[in-house]
Amino acid sequence: MSEPLVSIRNLSVVYNTRAGEVRAVDRVDLDIQPGEVLGLVGESGCGKSTLGMALLRLVRHPGRIAGGEIWFDGKNLLDLDDEEMRLLRGAHISMIFQDPMTSLNPLQRISDHVVETILTHKPEMDEEKARQQAAELIDRLGIMAERLDDYPHQLSGGMRQRVMIGLALALRADLIIADEPTTSLDVIVEAQFLDLLKELQRDFGLTILLITHNIGVVAQLSDRVAVMYAAKLVELADVEDLFGAPLHPYTQALLASVPNIRLVGDTLKIMRGSPPDLIQPPPGCRFHPRCSHAFEPCPFEEPPLTEVRPGRWVACWLHGT
Ligand code: SF4
Repeated sequence: MSEPLVSIRNLSVVYNTRAGEVRAVDRVDLDIQPGEVLGLVGESGCGKSTLGMALLRLVRHPGRIAGGEIWFDGKNLLDLDDEEMRLLRGAHISMIFQDPMTSLNPLQRISDHVVETILTHKPEMDEEKARQQAAELIDRLGIMAERLDDYPHQLSGGMRQRVMIGLALALRADLIIADEPTTSLDVIVEAQFLDLLKELQRDFGLTILLITHNIGVVAQLSDRVAVMYAAKLVELADVEDLFGAPLHPYTQALLASVPNIRLVGDTLKIMRGSPPDLIQPPPGCRFHPRCSHAFEPCPFEEPPLTEVRPGRWVACWLHGT
């Protein structure tokens, strides 16, 4: 494998609440390889979106990055000052949010957003040329050039998400973090959006961290998948391995709870119990109160994330960790 584009080491994020300290990301190690789509999945509240925000150092009060390192382009992002970090956001690491309206200025036309982005990246370019490039880019995204002068509210949700990708492409961002990018889209628009994202990823060699609770989206787009449970990374594998033979009982339960059109007559399995309270998570393996395979060490000792085969990582005592 080549040198990772991003190396996250021992990263922890905590939120100070009235009820106590919530450890939303707990000592996570994760590499993102250049040119890959890494899916990050887990139930709501498992810490996956917080991890994405931490990569951009956008964790808001009362949250804070409590420790660890995020290595990108030879620098630990946690050592950069605010101005260095501001220059890095967008230009090198872009984020596509669930609701693009939160990122697009409602008072600016689409052309203003795209042209401004191109000129930020290439200040030497004249505005006419930037506008021409913006039209070409928008056309590549399947939006007619005449829509360039629309305001964000005049576009559909799917078009706005396309514009967000366009902005990341205009900047030639090294990493795109897409946080639940299809949640606000209907099924047909979602399918079109995913096809486009796949095509662009292939054509431009994009590196994408795809954060979602939607297993179908992950299966369709990802090269590798990381699974989070209760702020911890519990499994990491190539997409075929993970879907073909999940090792961690939580991953198995997660996949078994997803409808599968091929299994006619099969009943959906509901995962028992609920995710733990992160103020006082269960000792040992955090999944043990819900795990039907739990045995002696599980309630007492935390299983470390271990490479059981090349590229195949799991944190479970069943797998000899
Ligand atoms: Fe289940 Fe034990 Fe594995 Fe945790 S370590 S997932 S409780 S078998």
